[in-house]
Amino acid sequence: MLYVVWHRVPDTDAITSAIVYSHYLNQIGHQSIPLALWEANKETLFVLSQAWATVPDINNELVEWSTIALVDHNESAQSIPNIKNYILHSVIDHHKIGDLETGYPLILRFEPVASTNSILYKMYKEANITIDKRIATLMLGGILSDTLHFRSPTTTDFDRLIVPILADIAQINDIEWFAMQMFAAKSDLGDISTYTLIKDIDAKDFTFSGRRSLISCIETTNPDYCLSRKSDIIDTIAKIKQEEWYDFVLFCIVDIIKERNTTIVQSDVEEKILKDVFDAHTVDGLADLGNRISRKKTIVPPLEEKLV
Ligand code: MN
Ligand code: MN
Repeated sequence: MLYVVWHRVPDTDAITSAIVYSHYLNQIGHQSIPLALWEANKETLFVLSQAWATVPDINNELVEWSTIALVDHNESAQSIPNIKNYILHSVIDHHKIGDLETGYPLILRFEPVASTNSILYKMYKEANITIDKRIATLMLGGILSDTLHFRSPTTTDFDRLIVPILADIAQINDIEWFAMQMFAAKSDLGDISTYTLIKDIDAKDFTFSGRRSLISCIETTNPDYCLSRKSDIIDTIAKIKQEEWYDFVLFCIVDIIKERNTTIVQSDVEEKILKDVFDAHTVDGLADLGNRISRKKTIVPPLEEKLV
């Protein structure tokens, strides 16, 4: 059995691409299933319901030395624990390459497009595999989620080209309406703990020149919800830094409608980093990062470049 694994704190692209890639693998003769190690968010549940796809059950029984495929990530910190103790069949991803290392050859497919599903679209075409209504809906959900319906600077011409084609197969007439339903679902953060808000909605670990960091990006149509919890978020970040050994934590509130990033600044450390790297000034615990709404393209690369 070949298990397709998505990343920690999974987003819609991660989970839909795992289902889509697993289907692809089965079509070309493998026996494959998507393996849920972390739960889906509300946006993903909406897309899955539209695609009549079931939410894969959480499975914590994956044994070491199983054969796995990674989608939508390649860094060990974002993957299953002890990733070195598994046999990697393939990696399909659109992120920068991190610490990926194997002792044997494997299939790698990386392209700088906006979503893993965009790469899978090409792979379906190349292998002559039919994209049915269900697969098209899943692909569309992944692309719209990762591009914030073309608002993100990660969007490429190829993504713009395939979205209407997929919407057609999925029989979704109003793409912006579909996207807004997704974003509304994602923005319904409900009554969650501040810790969950910081660590489990859309957070990723990075190390910049030995500095361990957490970059949490909440994409929302309702930024006031996070802003109203600012002081609590600041207190909780301080605790997380101390208990989990982070050098700095950035909590970015991404307003999907206005395409703005307002970042909550916990201490002098974050304040200095934001000033040095983004020339952003902190006022009352908040820094305006302007239109830097893509962690992948406009937040992480400058940190990588300037934090030396
Ligand atoms: Mn992802
Ligand atoms: Mn992605």
